[in-house]
Amino acid sequence: MKVAELEKPGSLRVRSKPLRALQGDEVLVRVESCGLCGTDVHIVDGTSRSTPPVILGHEYAGFVVDPGRNLAGLGEGTHVAVDPNICCGRCPYCRRGLVHLCSGLRALGVDIDGGMAEYSIVPASQLYTIPHGMTAEESMFIEPVSCAVHGMDRAGIRTGDCVVILGGGTIGLVMLQLVRRGGAAAIVVSEPVAHKRKIAADLGASLVIDPAGDSLRQAIMDTSGIGADVVIDCAGTLSSARTAIDLARRGGTVMFFGVCPIGETTPLEPNGVYFRELTIVGSYINPFTFPRAIGLLSEGIVRVTPLGVQAYPIESVHEALASLRDGRALKNMIVPGT
Ligand SMILES: [Zn+2]
Ligand SMILES: [Zn+2]
Repeated sequence: MKVAELEKPGSLRVRSKPLRALQGDEVLVRVESCGLCGTDVHIVDGTSRSTPPVILGHEYAGFVVDPGRNLAGLGEGTHVAVDPNICCGRCPYCRRGLVHLCSGLRALGVDIDGGMAEYSIVPASQLYTIPHGMTAEESMFIEPVSCAVHGMDRAGIRTGDCVVILGGGTIGLVMLQLVRRGGAAAIVVSEPVAHKRKIAADLGASLVIDPAGDSLRQAIMDTSGIGADVVIDCAGTLSSARTAIDLARRGGTVMFFGVCPIGETTPLEPNGVYFRELTIVGSYINPFTFPRAIGLLSEGIVRVTPLGVQAYPIESVHEALASLRDGRALKNMIVPGT
């Protein structure tokens, strides 16, 4: 079968790879669609961790071809989404219910062969049945939406809050829809790229700001009078991290959601965190949030069509990554067999 395999950081190759036999509780899935995201760009560039050689792709859905020992009770042809994050179930974190912080966490498409392939072998425990009527694009979005749902849990937004989202990329635009549904009164999105600002406005942002031209701080002071109740950093840069801390009101919450390159640091004034009584939280992957993500997408509460996802065959994976890297595309997906 045709696959996109990371040989080592900096070297992603499209090649042919034989399928191995199923073992244990594994299920063979024919991949319908597999999203590419900033994490894939970071993995390929070597600024996010991975265990090569490995087939990339952690946002994917497909159809059961061979249910193996059928421990999940999934019939052939069942439409399924794949939760790529596999916890050990035995470590002290897993035993506290913190499966996403598992000390032995491994992920399909990062450490184990993932979804940028015609077929994928997936442990039955990682599969979720997709309701009828969901498109390939929506199905591929279940994984990123599941991460945003965890972000909502972490951010603790209250009805009527003023929320700032830094970065109007894919995740920022998904988060915007969740924040809106979650009851925020004012949602300010800061995004340098004009067409992304337009989508953010269409999806219900109260105010969209170009950080290059407008004063974000002034706009937020004009909106709430005291700063943001919650700032969500979906941009994942040192500058956005600093901005996020700066924009929160006294007693506000700052959430780091975007992936900043490993090892990059920025100064923090502990006295400011103390005196302003800030809550600074991270949000990492998607513990137990797949069912809610499926519900939000199948009910049309999170809409992905406005994001203009582009589909590519596996052979064009480099082109798909390049258009993400230079910001031309918002979201791309690989559709094997096209
Ligand atoms: Zn991703
Ligand atoms: Zn564990």
